[in-house]
Parts: sequence; C-alpha cells; structure tokens
Amino acid sequence: MQYAILLKQGEIVLKGQNRRAFEARLEANVRRAVLPFGAFDVYSKQSVVYVTPQAGADAPGAFEACRDVFGIVSLSLCAVCGKDMDEIYETARQYLEKELTAAKSFKVEARRADKAFPKTSIEISQDIGGRLSDEFPHLAVDVHNPELTVKVEIREEAAFLHGNPALGAGGLPVGSSGRAALLLSGGIDSPVAGYLAAKRGLSVFPLHFFSYPYTSNDAKEKVLSLARRLTRFGLEGRAAIVPFTRVQEAIAKGAPDELGTILTRRFMSKIAEAFCGKFHLEALITGENLGQVASQTLQSLAVTAQNIALPVLRPLICYDKREITEIARKIGTFEISSLPYEDCCTVFTPQRPATKPKLERVLAAEKKLPFDELVAEAVSAIEVITFS
Ligand code: ATP
Ligand code: MG
Repeated sequence: MQYAILLKQGEIVLKGQNRRAFEARLEANVRRAVLPFGAFDVYSKQSVVYVTPQAGADAPGAFEACRDVFGIVSLSLCAVCGKDMDEIYETARQYLEKELTAAKSFKVEARRADKAFPKTSIEISQDIGGRLSDEFPHLAVDVHNPELTVKVEIREEAAFLHGNPALGAGGLPVGSSGRAALLLSGGIDSPVAGYLAAKRGLSVFPLHFFSYPYTSNDAKEKVLSLARRLTRFGLEGRAAIVPFTRVQEAIAKGAPDELGTILTRRFMSKIAEAFCGKFHLEALITGENLGQVASQTLQSLAVTAQNIALPVLRPLICYDKREITEIARKIGTFEISSLPYEDCCTVFTPQRPATKPKLERVLAAEKKLPFDELVAEAVSAIEVITFS
C-alpha cells in the first residue's frame, strides 16, 4: 500500500502576517519527528501539511510520531492510488475495511483538486458511496452526522483516501513562542509542566539540580530518561545538570532550618537565570502548584523568584494532583517519575519549613551565606548532556 500523511494545522491558521513563519516552524518540527522513519517530502498547502514518503520510508511509523507534534489539530494516514474510479473504490474497500465494518453509518466526501478529472466531486461521492453500500449492506448512508466519513481527494499526482482523522496534539509549533529552561526534578509535576510549555510553542531546555552523593546516580539517570522521554514532544534533545551539593550543604549548615526550602529555591532561581543568559533562554518553567507543599504558598512563591527578573511560568499552578497525574500517564512520564530515587530537595527537606517566609528574614539569612560565590561556582560547573 502507498501512503501519505495529512496534518491539519491548528491555531496557526488564525495567525496573520507571520503565519508563514509558524508554518515553516511546524514543517521543520515534522521533518525532525519523521526523520527516524526514512525520507519524506514535507510541504504545506491550504492549512494542511503533506508528508509523503519516498521509497522505503515507514509511513505508518511516521504517522504515529506525528501524533505528538504540537501545532496539529487532526491527522490522517491516507492510502494513495491511481486516479481511476475502479482503483479508488478497490483501495477504499481494502484500506478502510475495518472502519466500514465497525461503523453503522457513513458517507463519502470527495474533493477534486485536479479539475481535469472527468467526474465532479458529487459524482465521485455517489459512485464510491454506492459501491461501498452494496459491499457493506449494514451501513446506512447519513450525510449529516455519519459515524464514518470516507474522504477521497483527487490531486494532480494521485488519489488520496482516508477515514475519520485522529486527534492531533494541538497547541503551537515548538519554538514559535521562544525558548525557556525547565526546572526538571525527578517528580511527577515538572515533566508535565515541560510538556504543557512545549505545547504552547516553547522550545524547552531541561535543567536539573543534582546533589551527589546525597542523591544517587540513579536519580540523575531517572531525570535524564524523563528529559529523553519528553523529546518526542519537541523538547530540546539535551539536559543540563547543575552540581548542587555545595549549595545544599551551605544552607544546611549556615541557615535556619525552617528557611532551608525557600533558600534552596532562591539559589535555584538565580542559577537558572544565569543559565538562561548563557543559552539565550527567556523564561523559567517550574512544576509548582498552589498549596501543594510548604514552598508553594503564595508567600513562598513571591519570595522564591523575587531575586530574578526573568518571567517564571508555572503551567500547573491551578491543576489538581489528579489532573497532573492523568497527563503524566498520557505522556509516558508517570512510570519514570514513580521510580523510587530521592530528589535533592527531599533529602534536605526541613522538619518544619516556613509556609509564610518573610522576605526580610530570608534576605538576612541569605546574607550570612556566600550566595554569589556559590551561584557562580555552580553555574561554571553546569554540565550539558546531549542525547543522540
Ligand atoms: P515535582 O513533582 O516536579 O518534583 P513537587 O510537587 O515535588 O514538584 P517541589 O519538590 O517543591 O514540588 O519542586 C517544585 C518545583 O521546583 C519542581 O516542579 C521543579 O520545577 C523544581 N525543582 C525541584 N527540585 C528540583 C531539582 N532537583 N532540579 C530541578 N528543578 C527542581
Ligand atoms: Mg519534587
């Protein structure tokens, strides 16, 4: 069977002047997603991205990969055949046999882009619809609300056929909204936050704070596999690791216990900001969630990022745990996040963290630490790991 993939553009179609830039970004992302499945031609026409395989390419495999590409509302794997009515009917019967058998009602919707084709759209629909009705007599014809719509498109090069389209990933093409750093822990929340940020068109670079030997190499590997898992949604194919041991030891030794968490957070903000400067990133993304833990009260959130100027995006701020878990399962990060290895923050969690930290007290505690030196030292030792 010959195939082609049709991807229906999402919100891009609402863009004005810069629409072509969004479209080009989407095409580039699609090209990257289908790369492992062979050679494909990728081009846009009338709000649709066409992905046509060259010899030997795995189109069904590429189709599966396209499900995770942001910027697409729906997608179809088409059977491609010659522009001959018998051939079109035979291809529809074979290719859509399962759907035609399962559905109770259907219609055929034809479109003729090739105006030289001898039949009109209505004639094509009637001809193919009639033959399919004879072959599948249980099927009622329903032109208003059919369970199955068989689409036939007659293009210059060939006829394209498909059934009901699959739901696309939605959102905007990754990269079209800029670039940001994701504070990625090994927990359930931050991978979901990264996914949602990518969905709105951000190119996301994961950054992890690592406190060896308080946290093990298994914990680091866990975070790397989360980052790797997220690349299928277009996150950057690399992750940065910040050595964080010295910072956490300094806080544990030199600051009041109940301010440990908030101070840790402020170090993270500052280090992440410097990292963004180095890699031309314009925002931070965290998995913070209102009221979930002590460091996620309004007062804590205000103090957490008070020391930086970059915008902090918190995609999960008003989600319930159940909603977050549901997405984590859907995107395949839940199982990885559920592995037992401790995060650096859990290891150093105070007995009674302050839930309403006063900025003056935090600043006073911070003054007693070599804050800037520790930040500079951590930033200079950041390690970037690129995935193959
Ligand atoms: P998560 O499930 O993402 O770990 P959480 O509910 O456990 O979140 P915290 O542990 O308080 O909440 O962390 C809040 C946010 O801070 C995380 O979502 C993440 O963005 C960031 N963060 C925490 N620990 C780390 C770390 N070791 N490296 C990078 N970012 C971290
Ligand atoms: Mg956590």
